[in-house]
Amino acid sequence: MTLVSVTSEDVKRIAGFLECSSDEVIQRYTSMDLEVTGGRILRQVDGACIFLRENRCTIYEARPKPCRDFPHTEIRERSLGGRMASQCLRASICPIVYNTLERYKRLVGYRPRRDSRRSRPAGPDATRSSQQE
Ligand code: SF4
Repeated sequence: MTLVSVTSEDVKRIAGFLECSSDEVIQRYTSMDLEVTGGRILRQVDGACIFLRENRCTIYEARPKPCRDFPHTEIRERSLGGRMASQCLRASICPIVYNTLERYKRLVGYRPRRDSRRSRPAGPDATRSSQQE
């Protein structure tokens, strides 16, 4: 499960975008982050962010800072490379993360690593002939 933490500034921005009060945003769209910070996080519905509809962010212009900062390419502790495992988890609930990771893969010419055990010739004859080369 991916947690998107929200600050009071995020809540105000979302409230302005949705034309409701900050209290309403907190009550309807957030829950306590009991595992990490003790602050507020966006709720999830069926394993996805509560603001995700038909693979789109419905509050994109007012999305929280962690979403705005994505993909965290600045070199620091919480940069993209240092959090690749969690980014893969996020990709399963947020199309923005998924599409960005897919775009990066195309940009850098990513190809899945071949399993060297599978590509190695099988059997003693094949081993012998490859040693003679
Ligand atoms: S960008 Fe994704 S995680 Fe962030 S608010 Fe929008 S749908 Fe939710």
